Amino acid sequence: MRKQCFCLFGLRATNLNPESAQQLIKACIVVIDDEPLTAAALTEFLHQAGHTQVNHLTCSGLSPQTLSAEQPDLVFLELSVNPESALAVLAWMKADRQLLHVPVIVLTAQDESVIRLKALELGAADHVVKPIAAAELQLRLRNTLIMKVYRDRLARTDNLTGLPNRESLLWQLDWALKHAIRHEGAGAVLQLGLVRFRQVNDALGPAVGDELLHAVAHRLVAGLRDSDMVAWGIHGVQEPVLSRGSGDEFTMLLPTIERPEDAAAVAERMMERMNASFTVAGHELFVSCRIGIAIFPTDSNDKDTLLKHAGVAMRHVNQGSQSVISGSQFYSEELNAESLQRLRMERELHHALERSEFRVFYQPQVDCATGRLCGAEALVRWQHPERGLLGPGEFITVAENSGLIARVGDWVLRESLSQLAQWRQSGMQLPHVAVNISSLQLQHDELFGNVQDALTTSGVDAASLCLEITESAIIDSKLQVASTLAAIKELGVKLALDDFGTGYSSLTYLCRFPIDELKIDRSFVTDCDSPSSNTSTIAAAIIAMARRLGLRVVAEGVETDEQLAFVRANGAHAYQGFLFAKPLSAEEFALFVSARV
Ligand code: C2E
Ligand code: MG
Ligand code: MG
Repeated sequence: MRKQCFCLFGLRATNLNPESAQQLIKACIVVIDDEPLTAAALTEFLHQAGHTQVNHLTCSGLSPQTLSAEQPDLVFLELSVNPESALAVLAWMKADRQLLHVPVIVLTAQDESVIRLKALELGAADHVVKPIAAAELQLRLRNTLIMKVYRDRLARTDNLTGLPNRESLLWQLDWALKHAIRHEGAGAVLQLGLVRFRQVNDALGPAVGDELLHAVAHRLVAGLRDSDMVAWGIHGVQEPVLSRGSGDEFTMLLPTIERPEDAAAVAERMMERMNASFTVAGHELFVSCRIGIAIFPTDSNDKDTLLKHAGVAMRHVNQGSQSVISGSQFYSEELNAESLQRLRMERELHHALERSEFRVFYQPQVDCATGRLCGAEALVRWQHPERGLLGPGEFITVAENSGLIARVGDWVLRESLSQLAQWRQSGMQLPHVAVNISSLQLQHDELFGNVQDALTTSGVDAASLCLEITESAIIDSKLQVASTLAAIKELGVKLALDDFGTGYSSLTYLCRFPIDELKIDRSFVTDCDSPSSNTSTIAAAIIAMARRLGLRVVAEGVETDEQLAFVRANGAHAYQGFLFAKPLSAEEFALFVSARV
């Protein structure tokens, strides 16, 4: 397996300084020598010169496959010990497609001029005469490697733009595909076509067209190099690659993506970069681009098919539209609709935080014994500028997947506590407020500090706050979650387990966590008024067991008098549900409470 070779491919190729010692010492050098002592001496010399990737092979038994597997950048071939075999190796190397361009430096004795000549005729790049003079060896090695860097670069570079060409892209794509399959990851191929290039080329001539392509390439590369690439979701070790195909088409390879939206986000960024005009030969030119996206290995695990898919998707962008509009399109229809919508929502969610579009609604919780208000659950809503009031089911998952949930959740926490403080100041008797915490928030180190700070800022005592977490959040969690919960509990904050009964429902397991309250999921309550249902038996058993464990039990989703009678008869401490009240805005909640006092 090859560790690391010349960085001749991808974006870095355009930047390559062939004289850079760093680049040269990364070369993979193979010494083919049947005499172990000279091989060891040469290897040692190369190591001392800083080359870390030096391998030794012998002529006997060597095959093109074995040598290719080493992926050598340069071969030293010793000719004196076994000249016939060594020359045969050189001959088949020059006949092999993969080894053909690997430079070979032959080592011969002073008096072996005939063999030396033969080797040069067969295609050896250079020769060194033994006994080897270190300075001469170093010079020849360096020159040969520099030549190789130049030659590889030329072979893999598009002359006009200096970007990697299609061959180079295919090489990288091959690697990325294998890597994605092996690591069960994903990547993307983006096919990018300029919208008005042909008109520019026809009207102003090919020289202006070429210059425009050059300018476009540079702007796109600059976009890829932006440091915020990471924020756009590219987390791979491998860098993205932009290459030029034919005419006005560019192809971008994103070797590793976490989600298809990452590719859509990069496409969007590329399109944005095209918005500003280009000044070429005194003309102000506007070009936009269409981008087709194929995801691998989902769309295909074959590189040619993937490129074809990305091309098909690109031609579908704004199909039928005569106007000059840029846009992107996934090859898969399904992905297209879903990912673009999710991406749009992510962007809108960012704005929602900045524009204060979130609201908190409060659903009363009622004491089963006294029928009095004993708390309120804070439930987030989004006042969407076009779509109206949205429930959490429409955006929480997107907020979680994009990492925004931490900020949204923190806002809900602070808003709910400040609202509670305000209500209490105006004389409302409200024992506590319950705030939902996403499992992702629990994994954030800041949660404890945020809870502490929100309590201090609002002036609300810790016992008046209850955090609702779900079973899966703690069952799948790591040790750190348990210690965060313990620390929060230490503050005096109460912890409730939400939606109990929908997951593992392991009461013994839950005893290990400092839970105060169990919220029985609505699905159990809904069915419990039909006498024949099993769910009523399960619900009754859960309440009984929870009580035994000293937990407070809250029934969720009580809609009918029968359901209330059932949960009350079976010993639930409190309930919430449409029977008493739906979630209400802060103003409605205050009016609701004052009307009942
Ligand atoms: P949840 O925490 O189990 O909240 C109870 C949900 O049941 C609420 O839905 C509430 O409106 C609904 N509900 C209450 N009583 C009844 C009833 O009698 N009948 C019916 N059919 N439904 C009832 P909502 O507000 O849509 O919230 C859904 C879920 O979204 C919540 O379930 C919670 O898991 C999550 N959520 C809400 N706000 C937040 C938040 O600020 N942060 C996080 N991480 N999650 C939140
Ligand atoms: Mg809840
Ligand atoms: Mg619930």
